[in-house]
Amino acid sequence: MDKSADPCVDFYQYACGNWIKQNPIPPDQSRWGRFTQLEERNLEVLRQILEEAAKPDPKRDALAQKIGDYYAACMDVAGIDARGLAPIQPELDRIRDLKDKSQLAGEVAHLQRTGIGSLFDFGSGQDFKDSNSVIAQADQGGIGLPDRDYYLKDDVQMKQLREKYVAHVQRMFELAGAPAAQAKADAQTVMRIETDLAKGSLDRVSRRDPEKVYHRMSRQDLESLDPGFRWAEYFTASGAPEFQQINVAWPDFFKAQNTALGAYSLDDWKTYLRWNVLHSEAALLPTPFVDENFKFYGKTLTGAEEIRPRWKRCVEYTDAQLGEALGQKFVERTFGAQGKERTLKMVDAIEKALGQDIQSLSWMTPATKQQAEIKLKAITNKIGYPDKWRDYSSVVIRRDDAAGNGMRADQFEFQRQLNKIGKPVDRAEWQMTPPTVNAYYDPQMNNINFPAGILQPPFYDNRADDAVNFGAIGMVIGHELTHGFDDQGRQFDPKGNLRDWWTPVDAKAFNEKEACVVQEYSGFTPVDDIHLNGKLTLGENTADNGGLRLALMALQATIGNNHKLIDGLTPEQRYFLSFGQIWCENATPESLRLHAQTDPHSPARFRVNGVVRNLPEFQKTFACKAGQPMVAANACRVW
Ligand SMILES: [Zn+2]
Repeated sequence: MDKSADPCVDFYQYACGNWIKQNPIPPDQSRWGRFTQLEERNLEVLRQILEEAAKPDPKRDALAQKIGDYYAACMDVAGIDARGLAPIQPELDRIRDLKDKSQLAGEVAHLQRTGIGSLFDFGSGQDFKDSNSVIAQADQGGIGLPDRDYYLKDDVQMKQLREKYVAHVQRMFELAGAPAAQAKADAQTVMRIETDLAKGSLDRVSRRDPEKVYHRMSRQDLESLDPGFRWAEYFTASGAPEFQQINVAWPDFFKAQNTALGAYSLDDWKTYLRWNVLHSEAALLPTPFVDENFKFYGKTLTGAEEIRPRWKRCVEYTDAQLGEALGQKFVERTFGAQGKERTLKMVDAIEKALGQDIQSLSWMTPATKQQAEIKLKAITNKIGYPDKWRDYSSVVIRRDDAAGNGMRADQFEFQRQLNKIGKPVDRAEWQMTPPTVNAYYDPQMNNINFPAGILQPPFYDNRADDAVNFGAIGMVIGHELTHGFDDQGRQFDPKGNLRDWWTPVDAKAFNEKEACVVQEYSGFTPVDDIHLNGKLTLGENTADNGGLRLALMALQATIGNNHKLIDGLTPEQRYFLSFGQIWCENATPESLRLHAQTDPHSPARFRVNGVVRNLPEFQKTFACKAGQPMVAANACRVW
């Protein structure tokens, strides 16, 4: 805490000031907060697991062999350097040998199968309007910068980033053996193709609206959007089962793809595909590729000074590619029954609070309240880890083939996704691995998911009192619950179908309440003159505001009349401090800029101050007065 700060003037500074001063950003990070600190602690646990599993002991179990050899291969920098481009040479040769643009479809399918992103994204997903079934999905993709706006915006910053990106692509081609002049021309070709794909892409704010990314159609309809691409060959080569219907998230993208297919020569496309291979595989290629990749994606885009130590990266790749194998060992070591039990009790209390909160809303009519209540009651909770673990036995992992392991693990995942097409939805599946320090609400499943990784201090602490736990993990639980009722989540019904269950008058009132939140956060400037995008961050801001109110209601119901002081602080003071302190963070200006552009979450400072200034209970707790910065003149409240 910074006790020299006034909580009513800048609560974030009051709660986090000293932490911020004492915890500068380590050189291998672009942001450093209490989330990242816990992530680092989990990484240490995972490292121990992997180093043990990597010992070539003949008595290892099958799981240890997979994760241990994956990690060992990734750590073998000398071996990776010695093998040079050999692991991806077959891919480069296939591209070189293409004879005709008609072969592009098959080749793109082949690349995507091995985890090499190219042109568009293909996979499966729950049907927005029939949440029991899984259908094929095709979506925009194919660009190397973080967002389409990086290609299209005309400001000085973006222009500079584009120049640096082209220089990066050029150096990657040079590292792969192209002469400088050729590499330069090729990089410009890549930029031209990606810019055309970006122009056909839908912007991030619009993508928040599920109706805008739902266009269910027949295969023939997709083919007529993009007749230049041989879809039948693509689907066969992709390994997808037979299907008739597909959600083409944003049809205009495929029109743009069709135009681009006609506009560029076969050689241009070969250049683009070669870039896709180098870019996707860079992390597991020889050192010069890794360093060049970091220079652009780490240093230029996020402001990190040094690349993360090799072991951290290898732990993260193992988590990303064999996450439910590594996760089993993680759960054995870290997750106790007590944590699960107490978390479920908090979930229960917060769900009750949301029920009461909905009933008390003055802006909502009884008809819609009743529907909201039904949806709330239908929410299911998943805590810790999956009941049934993913089976990786078919993935071949070799101790001397880091890039190959990566491609085979990606292929397993790609096929796993496609195998779901036409099958009933698996409601037990998790989208995050157990060590992840995060949580999510899934509107199509209507469930909340809390991996074991986040159920630890500072979010959840067995030894802490209720006020502290409700202010941290409790607030996160409330946050996730209200996602079912934010600008996106509210459009789905209790069964997870995209169906409007609101009366028009309630929908209008909701939109007015949300407009207040949009306006509030659009006024915040995290870096220089960059404003937050109030529409992009609307769902998260709504969830932060609702979550903090609900967890407080639940705390008060749980402790009743027990207003014991601890460290001289009331339960409410401890609650708000615990909340403020989970968000303590330092971030580079580059990373603040990147996140303002792409992240639906507001930066830490505003996740704290933006919320408490709307909350009368906070102002009462710290005796704040009208006119002070933490007392909004027009307080926003949705939930
Ligand atoms: Zn959220």
